[in-house]
Amino acid sequence: MIYVFILGNKCNMKCKFCMSVEKELEREFIIKKLKELKEGLVVFTGGEPLLYNVNEYLKIAKMRGLKTKVQTNGKLIELLDLDLTDVVNLPVDGCRKTHDWLREKGHFDIVLKAAEIIRGKVDLSITTVLTSKNINEIEEIYEIVKYTNAKSWKLFKFKPKGRGKFWKKLSISENEFLKAVKLAKEIADIKVYAVRDPDKMNAKVFRLI
Ligand code: SF4
Repeated sequence: MIYVFILGNKCNMKCKFCMSVEKELEREFIIKKLKELKEGLVVFTGGEPLLYNVNEYLKIAKMRGLKTKVQTNGKLIELLDLDLTDVVNLPVDGCRKTHDWLREKGHFDIVLKAAEIIRGKVDLSITTVLTSKNINEIEEIYEIVKYTNAKSWKLFKFKPKGRGKFWKKLSISENEFLKAVKLAKEIADIKVYAVRDPDKMNAKVFRLI
């Protein structure tokens, strides 16, 4: 079973396509829920989880024998306790120019540096939010995914909500998304996952909206 804790929408970035709308989960609630879990993978995301008490939560999860994953934008990777983390997820949303336009100038290089820091210490997965800006860059994105040595690649379909509600022009059709996923599965020699609706993940999600 996968358990996703959306810690809140506090973040140190302002990505154009950000879909985060969640309010902050109470620390006590998170700790109580973690102590109830017996097995599976616990994912901490946000917002930016490294702006929250994520190392404390990771420690509890590890004491419970759970696998752990942290979904971060990579800017504060030095703060993450890698001894308590099994998988780090970083974003790659296009070639340098596209990625930096969607997120912020210089962030592409921050992701590559973060991938270098964790290399050989924990597994890496990459997430790409597919939008009208990067839908034709699947092959280029995969080259970057390979360069980072990621073990898996998750493709999300952009949904105009959160900050992203002001960027409806970044939306793509169902057909465009499915075609891009098909291509990604053809060219990638790592696991490729597709998430058509970020609000309907195949996991138990703890969130406060
Ligand atoms: S997409 Fe992620 S990194 Fe970017 S602003 Fe939203 S929560 Fe922060």
